[in-house]
Amino acid sequence: MDIGNRHKPIGSPFMNGPIFGKDVFIPLDFIIGGADMAGQGWRMLVECLSVGRCITLPSSGAGGGKYSIAATGAYARIRRQFNVPIAKLEGVQERIARIAGNTYTAGAAARVTAIAIDEGHKPSVPSAILKYNLTEIARQVAVDTMDVHGGKAIIRGPKNYVESGYSSVPVAITVEGANILTRSMITFGQGAIRCHPFVLPEMETAKADDLKGFDKALFGHFGFIFSNMSRAMVLNLTNAAFTGVPVSGPTKQYYKQLNKYAASFAICVDIAMSTLGGELKFRELISARLADMVSKMYLASMVLKHWADQGQRRPATGSVLYRETVLRVRRSTRWLPEEPASTSCCMAAACTDYAFRPSCRSA
Ligand SMILES: Cc1cc2nc3c(=O)[nH]c(=O)nc-3n(C[C@H](O)[C@H](O)[C@H](O)COP(=O)(O)OP(=O)(O)OC[C@H]3O[C@@H](n4cnc5c(N)ncnc54)[C@H](O)[C@@H]3O)c2cc1C
Repeated sequence: MDIGNRHKPIGSPFMNGPIFGKDVFIPLDFIIGGADMAGQGWRMLVECLSVGRCITLPSSGAGGGKYSIAATGAYARIRRQFNVPIAKLEGVQERIARIAGNTYTAGAAARVTAIAIDEGHKPSVPSAILKYNLTEIARQVAVDTMDVHGGKAIIRGPKNYVESGYSSVPVAITVEGANILTRSMITFGQGAIRCHPFVLPEMETAKADDLKGFDKALFGHFGFIFSNMSRAMVLNLTNAAFTGVPVSGPTKQYYKQLNKYAASFAICVDIAMSTLGGELKFRELISARLADMVSKMYLASMVLKHWADQGQRRPATGSVLYRETVLRVRRSTRWLPEEPASTSCCMAAACTDYAFRPSCRSA
C-alpha cells in the first residue's frame, strides 16, 4: 500500500488523498457484512451515499447557518457606524433576516428528513434535494455573513472566524454529487420514473409483453392526467380556497397554496414527460426547473412540519419564515405570470413550446 500526498481541500481541514495498492489481499471477513456481501460493494456504496447525502452535508449546512446567525447577529450589535450599531441599518437587517430564514429552512429540512431515515426510509429524491438546496443555502449564508462583517472578514488571521467557512463552501458544493449535475439531472431524473404512479408499471408491463397490465396502467395514467388537469384548473381558478388541508390556524393558507402548486406541478411533469419522453433526461434546463419546483415545495413542507413539530411556537416568526419559502416556490415557477388562473396553462405552453419549437430545442 502506498499512501500518497495528503490533499488540501480549499479551506477544509479534513483528511483526503489518494491511496494506491498493488496485489492487495483482503480476507473475506473484512468485507462489510461478511462473505455474503461479496460483489455487493457498489450497491452498498450507492445506498450509503443515497442516505448519507441527506445527513452529512445538509446538517453541516444547517449547523453552519446557526454559527453564522449567532456570529453575525452579535457582531452587528457591536460594530457601530454613523454612531449606531450596524444591526439598526435596514440594509444589514435584510441580510441578517435572509441568514435567519435560510438557517430555519435548512434546520427544518435536515431534521425532518433525518427523522424519515430514522424510521427506516431510504429517501433518494429528498437526499438529492437536500444535498443541492442546503449546500446552496450554505453558500448564500456564507456570502451574507461575509458581507455583513465587511472588512473584518476579508483580512486573514486568527481573529477572522468567518473566512474558513466561506472558503470551504465549494467543497460541499462539489462532493457527493456536484451541484450543477444534481440539480440538472439527478433530482428530477431520479424521481420522475420511480415516483410516478403509472410510468414505471407502463414500462415494466411493456417490457414483459403484458398487454392487459399495460392497458390498465395506460388508462390509469390517462385518468390521472385528466384528474390532475381539472384539479389544477379548479385550484388555480379558486386560489385553492376550498381545498381540504389537515390543519387549522395561521399556516392553513400555506398548506392550501402548496396543494395548488403540487397539482400544477403534477400536470407540468406529465406534459414534459409525454412531449419530451426519454429526451427529457438530456433537456437539463427543463429538468432543472422541475427540480427547482419540487425542491421548493419539499422545503416548504419541511418548514411547515418542523414548525408544527416544535409546538407552533412564535406564530409570527413561523409565518414570516414560511412566507419566505412560499416566495421561493413562486420564484421557482417564474416562467409563469403571477395570475394564479393561468399558472398550469402557461407551464404547459412553455413545455410544449420547448418540445416542438426547433429554435428553442437547438438553443
Ligand atoms: C475534497 C474532496 C473530497 C472528495 N471526497 C470524495 C470521496 O470521499 N469519495 C468519492 O467518491 N469522491 C470524492 N470526491 C470526488 C467528488 O465527488 C468529485 O470531485 C465530484 O463528484 C465532481 O466530479 P469531478 O471533479 O470529476 O467534476 P466533473 O465531473 O468534471 O464536473 C465538472 C462540472 O460539470 C458538471 N457536470 C458534470 N456532468 C454533468 C451533467 N451530466 N450535467 C450537468 N452538469 C454536469 C458538474 O456539476 C461540475 O460542475 C472528493 C472531491 C474533493 C474535491
